Amino acid sequence: MLRSVILAASRSSQVERLVATAPYTRDVVRRFVAGAATDDALRATRGLVDDGLAVTLDHLGEDTVTPEQATATRDEYLRLLKMLSGAGLTPAAEVSVKLSALGQMFDEQLAYDNARAICAAADAAGTTVTLDMEDHTTTDSTLEVLGRLRKDFPSTGAVLQAYLRRTESDCRELAYAGSRVRLCKGAYKEPESVAYQSTREVDKSYVRCMNILMSGDGYPMLATHDPRMIAIGEDRARWFDRGPERFEFQMLYGIRPEEQARLAGEGYTVRTYVPYGDEWYGYLMRRLAERPANPGSSSGRARES
Ligand code: FAD
Repeated sequence: MLRSVILAASRSSQVERLVATAPYTRDVVRRFVAGAATDDALRATRGLVDDGLAVTLDHLGEDTVTPEQATATRDEYLRLLKMLSGAGLTPAAEVSVKLSALGQMFDEQLAYDNARAICAAADAAGTTVTLDMEDHTTTDSTLEVLGRLRKDFPSTGAVLQAYLRRTESDCRELAYAGSRVRLCKGAYKEPESVAYQSTREVDKSYVRCMNILMSGDGYPMLATHDPRMIAIGEDRARWFDRGPERFEFQMLYGIRPEEQARLAGEGYTVRTYVPYGDEWYGYLMRRLAERPANPGSSSGRARES
């Protein structure tokens, strides 16, 4: 119930104004977002890479409504990739891209063209791109763009959301050699017609999807903070004899940092998803919807288990 209310608020500009001016907002944002500027993103990336983690960087922004905004987002990624490469942070750092930020909502071809330019820049920088997945109305379009991008840039990563009923079938389609697939539970408010609603159903779907990906031929990226899913992931890695070069765990910046360090210390590949930029509102509200107690906590560590 609370999750639904927070997710509904994530679309409200009135609530956005209230949240932006609330006294504790700055600390909460700082916990989950690396900073507003490209330099902040680079600094956070350097720290994580020095600690033995891989990184994927997300330039925040999803309400792109004009071609100019989409182009500006593309250009920021091109700049970021050049800076990452110049700082010697590739291939440890890659980028995550939302097609909505590149124009998908009003011109799919423009979003494809922009994503293609980012993939080409990533390729030149010696790293990869992963296409984030947004709400279910965009799934077909995103997978279609992914298929086109993979013709020239086969390492382009996909994201599949275990809460969607269709996802087991999408996992089967995408579990082929060379296919990088991030599996997450899903962060949007979705209707029952397309998505499992209960935690138990979503978790069971996550495990079924993980089984398909881990037993398949692709490169699974298990994106979760859930101790049970992580333990099952470790178990499946043993079953299917997958070493650290054949799958990875992924978690969000600021969430369970000690668990990220533990897994990396045990030799797993762990990638931290690092958002930066000043359009943090939608991202932050999705994080709060997942764990409404977060704002009162100065650090998530006390709640780690
Ligand atoms: P949940 O079901 O939220 O929580 C399960 C358990 O995990 C909790 O009971 C607790 O034990 C532990 N836990 C969870 N959060 C915390 C915390 N803050 N502190 C301590 N313990 C905690 N979603 C999309 O829809 N599209 C995407 O492209 C996408 N990309 C993602 C990329 C990465 C790297 C990650 C990690 C997530 C991404 N997500 C994306 C979000 C994802 O779909 C989930 O909404 C989010 O990860 C929460 O689900 P969960 O599996 O972590 O566990």
